[in-house]
Amino acid sequence: MSNHKPIKSASTSAEEIIEWGEANKMETCFDRAAKMKPCPIGETGACCKVCHMGPCRLIGKNAEEEATGVCGASLSTVAARNFVRMIAAGTAAHSDHARDMANTLLAAATGEVKDFKITDVRKLYKVAGILEIEFEGRPVNDVAKDVAETFLQDFGRQNGEINYCKRAPKKTQERWKKYGIAPRGIDREVVEAMHRTNIGVDHDADHLLTHGLRTALADGWGGCMISTDVTDILFGTPRPIKAEASFGIFKEDEVNLVVHGHEPSLAELIVDVVSTDEMIEYAKSKGAKGINLGGMCCTANEVLMRHG
Ligand code: SF4
Repeated sequence: MSNHKPIKSASTSAEEIIEWGEANKMETCFDRAAKMKPCPIGETGACCKVCHMGPCRLIGKNAEEEATGVCGASLSTVAARNFVRMIAAGTAAHSDHARDMANTLLAAATGEVKDFKITDVRKLYKVAGILEIEFEGRPVNDVAKDVAETFLQDFGRQNGEINYCKRAPKKTQERWKKYGIAPRGIDREVVEAMHRTNIGVDHDADHLLTHGLRTALADGWGGCMISTDVTDILFGTPRPIKAEASFGIFKEDEVNLVVHGHEPSLAELIVDVVSTDEMIEYAKSKGAKGINLGGMCCTANEVLMRHG
């Protein structure tokens, strides 16, 4: 048996914190992962919980050829359904984020909210150009409103293609058309994925997976790209800057704030607020020397790459 201690993180400071947690009886995801034995049926996508006649476990020696659920679904159908539903969930998560960002851009452009503004006008014009929206000589907020509304149409469009399909290389676009996987509307593809993976609907694994591809493209060329571009327009396009990371950022004599989450809107406002005299005075009134803003996960990355 090896005497080597399992390494839980590539970062030595993270290792130190994990050990400190263990010594202080604090359970972390590392402890839970070590204890957790993955369900062998779920791991291979062979468990179906799509309807209440199940859950059905498609197992056995010749499961691939012989096993069926109560409804008659084969293992390949069940595995494809499970996978397509994962794609739909991921697409919904990224793209609902994008929808909120587009709504924030719209609210900033119309003046409905006062705390957000167009920071990167160059990026706004670049995006307007891609979307074929006139921007020369027009008020910035009018262009931003048109950009936001055009993006929002990408969610509910029933036919045609989402706007950013045109950003893909021509050959790629032709391939998407040939296989019928150019995404029409982001919500449309997620709903169709949920519909076709339901009991008694689509039982053809290849056909299901083809729609999985279309849904994944709606995520990448829709939700992800829309949220990236709108975030740049609202908060600025990141440039290389010097920043600090890891546990060393924390300060013993300041209030340490850690932002996290996957939508950066609130975190950007916190960035603005923490350096105001009012907040710093308030922190001092409680005995701290100031406020130290850090973060973790996606939002931290957004803040880090824009503000350092
Ligand atoms: S959809 Fe079919 S395989 Fe899935 S739980 Fe219902 S009966 Fe079982």
